[in-house]
Amino acid sequence: MLTGAGISADSGVPTFRGTDGLWKNFRAEDLATPEAFERDPRLVWEWYNWRRELIATKQPNSAHKAIVELERRSPNFWLITQNVDGLHRDAGSQKLSEIHGNIWKVRCTGCGLVENNRNVPIAILPSCADCGSLLRPHIVWFGESLFVEDLDCCSRALRQCDVLLVIGTSGVVHPAAGFASIAKQAGAFVAEVNLDPTPQSALVDISLQGRAKDLVPLLLDPA
Ligand code: NAD
Ligand code: ZN
Repeated sequence: MLTGAGISADSGVPTFRGTDGLWKNFRAEDLATPEAFERDPRLVWEWYNWRRELIATKQPNSAHKAIVELERRSPNFWLITQNVDGLHRDAGSQKLSEIHGNIWKVRCTGCGLVENNRNVPIAILPSCADCGSLLRPHIVWFGESLFVEDLDCCSRALRQCDVLLVIGTSGVVHPAAGFASIAKQAGAFVAEVNLDPTPQSALVDISLQGRAKDLVPLLLDPA
C-alpha cells in the first residue's frame, strides 16, 4: 500500500494542495525546506505548532482501520506512507515506512538524536536535552533525501509485491510519485483510489474515483 494526504483528508487533516492547506498565506513548499528553517526556525516551528494542534484533534478513519485489518490478514504486507500525521500508527499499523517522517518526532540538529514529542504546543525554540542544540521536526523536507533504510525497505517491497494499492496521493512528489511505476514494471497489479484522476491514472490497472474512507473498507468484504 502507498498512501498520501488524501487518506487523512477524510479525518479532517488538510492536504497541501488546496486553499485550506495554507497558513498565514505561506505555502507549504516555502516552509517545509531546510533553507526556511535556517533562515527563520521560529517561523517554521510556529507553522509546525499550528499543524500539530490541528492534527492532535484528528482520529484515524475507516480507511486507516481497514489497512490495519489488511495487515493482519496478509503475511507479506507493507505500508508506505507519505503522511507525517501518525494516524496510521494511531490506528494500529505496525508494518509501515513513514518515508517523510513523523510530526510527533523531533531531531537534534547537533547530535542527531530522534525523540518522540507530543507537546502541543511545543516550546519555541525547542532544544536538545542532551547537547542543547536546536531541535527540528523529524520530517523529510522538500529538497532533502529520504532516509536510506526507508528507501531500501520501500524498493524491496515494491519489487516483490503482487498488488500495490495507491490511496489518496497526487503522484507529483518524488520519489513516491515513481513507486507505482516501479511496482508495475516488477509485474504487480496496481490500483489507485483517489477523488480525482491523477498523473498515475493512465499507468495503473484500475483507477477508482471516490473517498478513501468509503472505498478502502470495501476491500475487506468484496461481496
Ligand atoms: P497531495 O496533497 O499532493 O495530494 C492529495 C491527493 O489526495 C490528491 O490527489 C487528492 O485528489 C486526493 N484526495 C483528497 N481527498 C481524498 C479522499 N477523501 N479520498 C481519496 N483521495 C483524496 O498529497 P500527497 O500526494 O500525499 O503529497 C504531498 C506531500 O505533503 C507529502 O510529502 C506529504 O508528506 C505531505 N503532507 C502530509 C499530510 C499528512 O500527513 N496528513 C498532509 C498534507 C501534506
Ligand atoms: Zn543533541
